[in-house]
Amino acid sequence: MTEPAAQSSAGGRFRLGVIGDPVAHSLSPALHQPALDQLAIAAVYERWHTVAADLAKRVESLRQPGVLGASVTVPHKIAVMSLIDEVSPAARRAGAVNTIVNRDGVLFGDNTDIYGFGVTVSSALEGRTPRVALVLGAGGAARAVVLALEAAGAGEIVVANRDVGRAERLAHDLDPAPVRPVRLDEEMLTRELPRAELLVNATSLGWHTGESPIALENLDLLAAGAVVADLTYRDTDLLVAAQARGLKTVDGLPMLVHQGARAFELWTGAGAPVQTMLTAARAAQASSRT
Ligand code: NDP
Repeated sequence: MTEPAAQSSAGGRFRLGVIGDPVAHSLSPALHQPALDQLAIAAVYERWHTVAADLAKRVESLRQPGVLGASVTVPHKIAVMSLIDEVSPAARRAGAVNTIVNRDGVLFGDNTDIYGFGVTVSSALEGRTPRVALVLGAGGAARAVVLALEAAGAGEIVVANRDVGRAERLAHDLDPAPVRPVRLDEEMLTRELPRAELLVNATSLGWHTGESPIALENLDLLAAGAVVADLTYRDTDLLVAAQARGLKTVDGLPMLVHQGARAFELWTGAGAPVQTMLTAARAAQASSRT
């Protein structure tokens, strides 16, 4: 950890936090605080609710010596890029920063969602490289998914979006990643699902029961060994229907935890206690449903 020149205002402890709007339901404090405590790092992880008009001021405050850095969430992952000093090549390519590190007053931004999805999918696929992956959605999260799949050596990444123009822009921006942009419709699903070894839901649909980016019967088209990943961190209708068909599934919580673990390492220089973070995040997720 970089030694700060002065202590923070949080009772002599270093400070970290999540910047977003809203942040009330963020699981990040629940996974980071137990990790900091386990390693006896004297830091407090807070919720820093920030509306767009206050973003520049908030980012400027991260330069204070007692602040280690911040997580960045919706809707600020793009806007913070122009407010910090350095952006990693991966974050620049993804077009989004989700982690800011305060290096003695110089703010460095990275995108740890790419790493988070990469670890998650490699574990779910037991180290296999997918020849064909079908990604539903073309927003910021889909960009991180595509970069992780590219790094994993995926042969073809089909990106299906309701607004096909957005999928085409993604393919253009992430060139030379092996992306084929398509429109998300039934005809495409009939054609692509039998070929896909990995199906990823990177749309914002799935947080509520009865919500799915595709009609669930389409899952019958997947091969028996296919894996279904959902970035939503709950058992979505899509995942439940895939499990009912005997398919292997993974929800969004491991991705959240692994991106957090990578951020933790950037802030503190210490290895993250991933199992503690996963257990804490699962507990917080369960209690948020009760
Ligand atoms: P964006 O708003 O950038 O993108 C949303 C995507 O969902 C777009 O592709 C959009 O399509 C699609 N979509 C929205 N509504 C519909 C609909 N009714 N039918 C079909 N497609 C739809 O969001 P993000 O990419 O930032 O996030 C996507 C999801 O990933 C969210 O649920 C988020 O919580 C989750 N996430 C999880 C992470 C984790 O660690 N597990 C990390 C980051 C995100 P269109 O372009 O056509 O509007």
